[in-house]
Amino acid sequence: MSQTMQSYIDEAEQALLHTYNRYQVVFEKGDGVYLYDMDGKRYLDFVAGIAVFALGYHNEEYNDALKAQIDKIIHTSNYYYNVPAIEAAKKLKAVSGMDRVFFTNSGAEAVEGAIKTARKYAYLKDGRTDHEIIAMNHSFHGRTMGALSVTGNPHYREAFEPMIGNIRFADLNDFDSVARQVTDRTCAILFETVQGEGGIWPATEDFMRKVRALCDERDILLILDEIQCGMGRTGEMFAWQRYGVKPDVMTTAKALGCGVPVGAFLMTEKVGENSLKAGDHGTTYGGNPLACSAVCKVLELYEKLDIPARVRETGAYLESSLDRVAAQFDCIRERRGVGLMQGLVFDRPVGDIITRAMDKGLVLINAGTDIIRFVPPLVIDRQNVDDMTAILTESIREVCGGR
Ligand SMILES: *Cc1c(COP(=O)(O)O)cnc(C)c1O
Repeated sequence: MSQTMQSYIDEAEQALLHTYNRYQVVFEKGDGVYLYDMDGKRYLDFVAGIAVFALGYHNEEYNDALKAQIDKIIHTSNYYYNVPAIEAAKKLKAVSGMDRVFFTNSGAEAVEGAIKTARKYAYLKDGRTDHEIIAMNHSFHGRTMGALSVTGNPHYREAFEPMIGNIRFADLNDFDSVARQVTDRTCAILFETVQGEGGIWPATEDFMRKVRALCDERDILLILDEIQCGMGRTGEMFAWQRYGVKPDVMTTAKALGCGVPVGAFLMTEKVGENSLKAGDHGTTYGGNPLACSAVCKVLELYEKLDIPARVRETGAYLESSLDRVAAQFDCIRERRGVGLMQGLVFDRPVGDIITRAMDKGLVLINAGTDIIRFVPPLVIDRQNVDDMTAILTESIREVCGGR
């Protein structure tokens, strides 16, 4: 007898560490913007593996590129050159306008690399080892000790103290709060261009410009974490490109490989020349041929499908659709977001609404307890948005009541 979905879930609870409160579903395959569970039930996916599967599931060109690379070579070592990594780096430079690329296996590792870059840059200037980084409250940068240290959510950090030292926190979009934390030892100011986990808070243009000017004046590195908001999600390849405020160092991951684990930190030539050198940083897997063949194909498909332009259009449609939903319910406080990175803020926990939507065949995710986050595949169309809002509206009505 074949195993049922429930028996797999029971086994998972015996075998996997309990670090997630998982939804009671086992997804088995995907196709386009739909996921299928083990019972063959279809779900419209507005999560995309948390802003990862930008091109949708089962994209044949992407799958074929990976299969071809598997048959050639999956891994060598960073002590040798490989063509996919060279091509991926060239393409990433072209879309970002940055000059130097280091490939990692995850977002958190990209943040680690950015932190090391900033510390080394400052160390080479004055030989001191007490430099400080300013990060933001409500930020999220990952779960490793360094990335956790700059994550502005004490709840995530508390049990794991002590963190790496010399991190100060300020508030996103409150320039004075940042300026107040600057000392003669500040080496970097770090934030997400659009805060994701913290509740979908876009940085304002005014804030971006002022922080950039402050960094220029004091030779402080501006590090932008584009792991969630980058790769076309806001309607530009990287969210900072909307403002014309360029970082010195930036991180990317999530949609970069569209499912193959890969991230990167990038920097300007000036920073590259004056920070990490041979022996300062490394990784066994980072930038291996398989991961980089995914990056190459993803960036190629982004160009072919003109993903950013598409996101500007469907993003505007999602925005107005969510505004209409928000206007219908007193339990919704506001909508926030840019492009296909949106949040609906409720006056109550949203877990129940999400569970009901799942029952009706729609996958949603929260950001914090009171916010439903919308980070769908970037290839969704208007019909997908309409289908989503129909199920969402019904699910909210069941929980909040009302018209
Ligand atoms: C997801 C995320 C990370 C961490 O990425 P991992 O691949 O999970 O390590 C870091 N920063 C931001 C903004 C993220 O959304």
